[in-house]
Amino acid sequence: MYLKQLKLQNWRNFEELETGFSPNVNIFIGQNAQGKTNLLEAVYFLALTRSHRTNSDKELIRFGQKAAILSGHVVKSQVETDLQVRINAKGKKAWINRIEQSKLSRYVGQLTAILFSPEDLALVKGAPSLRRRFMDLEFGQINPEYLYFSSQYRQVLQQKNNYLKQLANGKSKDKVFLEVLSDQLAGLAAEIISRRLKYLTYLSEYAKKAYAAISNEKEQLEVVYNPSVPLTSEQITSESIYHEVLACFKKNEAGEIRTGTTLSGPHRDDLKFLLDKKDAHLYASQGQQRTIALSLKLAEIQLIHQITGEYPALLLDDVMSELDHTRQSALLNYIHGKTQTFITTTDLEGISWEIVKKPKIFRLK
Ligand code: ATP
Ligand code: MG
Repeated sequence: MYLKQLKLQNWRNFEELETGFSPNVNIFIGQNAQGKTNLLEAVYFLALTRSHRTNSDKELIRFGQKAAILSGHVVKSQVETDLQVRINAKGKKAWINRIEQSKLSRYVGQLTAILFSPEDLALVKGAPSLRRRFMDLEFGQINPEYLYFSSQYRQVLQQKNNYLKQLANGKSKDKVFLEVLSDQLAGLAAEIISRRLKYLTYLSEYAKKAYAAISNEKEQLEVVYNPSVPLTSEQITSESIYHEVLACFKKNEAGEIRTGTTLSGPHRDDLKFLLDKKDAHLYASQGQQRTIALSLKLAEIQLIHQITGEYPALLLDDVMSELDHTRQSALLNYIHGKTQTFITTTDLEGISWEIVKKPKIFRLK
């Protein structure tokens, strides 16, 4: 699969831009603040209907304008698909072949993309919310149900938290309604957690191999799910997870009413990265963190390919110059000939050119 054509209208600093891409390597060269990241962000948004760097879609609309429009042609098994996403003050809507999609979860997945930027280093040492966001974005791309359940979960969680606050301040007394909400939330949590478990098992295996390849097998990487609800049954199924989440809600009930928030569930989960069984969050060096982040991205490419049968587009924002020659080679050899790649750079010096075959070069000004 690859993105053949892209059109931007009032997207960030672009008033209008229409361009075609190579199915192989595309390189955007330009000085600072020319729009290189904005362009990658547009490709990412066309794929996921979310930005990698902001949750506020109105930032994406060009200053002084009311709406932004992204359009593109994706080619998959020689079939071309027309994609479009429009953003305005009210929200966003998406079209496939000019047909408006009733839900964004029906749209996502037409184009898949993996973005790697220097901020991804924070995935290892940063806040748990970054790792949850990582899971949600990646698993949402390969499983529309994951996306659907996540959005339902967020809504019911909000409802439950509002109700907990009412119980806390004495405006409501009816615990039965709390039980109804908890039950609904536990059902949705089980759908999310079971998918996280499944995809993380694959992801961990791929990441371990990628890490070994990049580091010359110096250490062994493990990616471990760290759910906020302890999963103790011998055979973990959606049903068993549902019961464990519900039991956890019940156990924490007094605390939840006191604080007015739901204390456990997918919104409190985390991931752990272990290098030779030691927690990378505490011990990994800068270089090791970079290798972990890179291995994860490479693992995602494999996971998306395994689940969808297609390789995602790979977006590399300012990362080539951050990687030494060995890691650049490992990265480019890994992706060579498989995935459409977009690379941004301020100058061509930092890139090992002998590995990038026949790139299409764009100069941004
Ligand atoms: P660097 O090499 O520093 O990373 P870049 O080429 O990646 O630079 P971008 O992050 O793409 O630069 O930003 C380009 C410009 O777009 C910036 O000057 C920024 O202020 C501007 N910009 C960001 N959002 C908007 C917007 N909504 N409307 C208009 N311009 C915007
Ligand atoms: Mg940039």
